[in-house]
Amino acid sequence: MEKSSRSHGARFTAFAFLFLAVLFAEASMIDRQRREFVIPDWIEIVDEPVAENSKTIQRAVRVRDTKVTYDGAQIWRVQGSENQKDLVSNVSMDFQETGLFSLWVGNDTMVDVIVRSEEIPRASRYLHQKDLQYKVVIEDLQRAIDEENPTLSEQEMEELEGRKARYAWWHGVAARVPVRYSRPRPVRYPVASVLGGGGPWRFRGHRMEWSSYHRLDDIHGYLDYLAETFPNVCSVVSIGNSVEGRALKVLRISNGKPNAPALWIDGGIHAREWISPAAVTWIINELVENSESLEADYYILPVANPDGYEYTFTRDRLWRKNRKRSVGSLCTGVDLNRNFGYRWGGMGTSKDPCREIYAGSGPFSEPETKAIRNFFEASAANFKAYLTFHSYGQYILYPWGYDKRVPPDYADLDRVGRQVATAMRKANGANSAYTVGNSATTLYAASGGSDDWAKAILKMKYTYTIELRDTGKHGFVLPARYIIPTAKEALAAVMVVTEACKSL
Ligand SMILES: [Zn+2]
Repeated sequence: MEKSSRSHGARFTAFAFLFLAVLFAEASMIDRQRREFVIPDWIEIVDEPVAENSKTIQRAVRVRDTKVTYDGAQIWRVQGSENQKDLVSNVSMDFQETGLFSLWVGNDTMVDVIVRSEEIPRASRYLHQKDLQYKVVIEDLQRAIDEENPTLSEQEMEELEGRKARYAWWHGVAARVPVRYSRPRPVRYPVASVLGGGGPWRFRGHRMEWSSYHRLDDIHGYLDYLAETFPNVCSVVSIGNSVEGRALKVLRISNGKPNAPALWIDGGIHAREWISPAAVTWIINELVENSESLEADYYILPVANPDGYEYTFTRDRLWRKNRKRSVGSLCTGVDLNRNFGYRWGGMGTSKDPCREIYAGSGPFSEPETKAIRNFFEASAANFKAYLTFHSYGQYILYPWGYDKRVPPDYADLDRVGRQVATAMRKANGANSAYTVGNSATTLYAASGGSDDWAKAILKMKYTYTIELRDTGKHGFVLPARYIIPTAKEALAAVMVVTEACKSL
């Protein structure tokens, strides 16, 4: 009996093996067949509406963007004299049309432009013909980009590893100590230990520090950490999602003082202005550390354009707009700071989706701007100020941006703006000069900006667009070592405006 059952078993095993072998062979064939139909990675299949705001979805093939490099590209500053004003503005128009340059920033008498390496001779001839002077500000843009955000050294990494234990200890204490005694610590994490795996640290700590520029995940992780660790002072809310579905996280900092004025602060609405989210998160750190003495409530959106921001890390360092696909155009992106619903589509905007200043298909057509509008419509906070941080140029700008006009109370805006400039200059001994003035006059006309909307529609008293460092040496590609010096200036601005709000 025993013997026969064993041979029965052997036969069964043999059969099972054969069966499995056939199964595997089949599976690998299917796998091979499937592999033959794999979509090449330079193509992507997307579902998109057949027309703007249409509910009918169609499947479309898109060529995926490749990483943009700026090898040999240069930044030129084109300078015109007073009587060459028209010439300079013509040049900025030509930039877009001839494809010779792309515009970084500019006003009536000066523009900074990117010139691709292969266009350098042609661009130079063009400017000579127009009798315009220029100088090379950045010799090799790609090199500047590569040097802007250095990875931490081996030694720094080790040093940071040591902090983990200290932090774990601190976190244990912080959880038990009443909030008014506890302080968040700026904890620096080794890049290697936090990229990828994560581990328990991912949930308990945060990866934010201010010697380098951080990805969106780190910034959002920091906000969540603050809300979890200091629930009596901080709370975080997502006010909506971006085009690609990323959260728009707002941190509220309040010590609960009654009748405190509220200030709105945002950053990163233009993706490539990296210093803005970096400075705004540093401001957050300072406000939370000093939360007992705060005399206002702060609502802070550090990254108002999360898709664009991520895109500047993964594809194109100099991307400005959001990542909306335009129907009927191969170009992507809306300039969110032209998409707000006051005097939408006026001066300094474009209807062409390929332009950097494309205003979108209508006011608040974009989920990012819509989320901000909805937030204010629903909020009961006592808002008195709206501060939006940009770069670069070192300007403190007040409305209006749509035209060279000023609001009725512009004298107040100008006075506080000058106090802001003084405080920023004194902030850290760098003696940084910030120019104060009306947006359209000081810089250029730009309709549909958040500042005009905040002033006109939300009726915010103190509304400023602050262009942080620098004045052009590095432009958007400001090396990470300037984060803290610049952030100190930005914080000084916030404190002066807070003071002004208190006396309202
Ligand atoms: Zn900007």
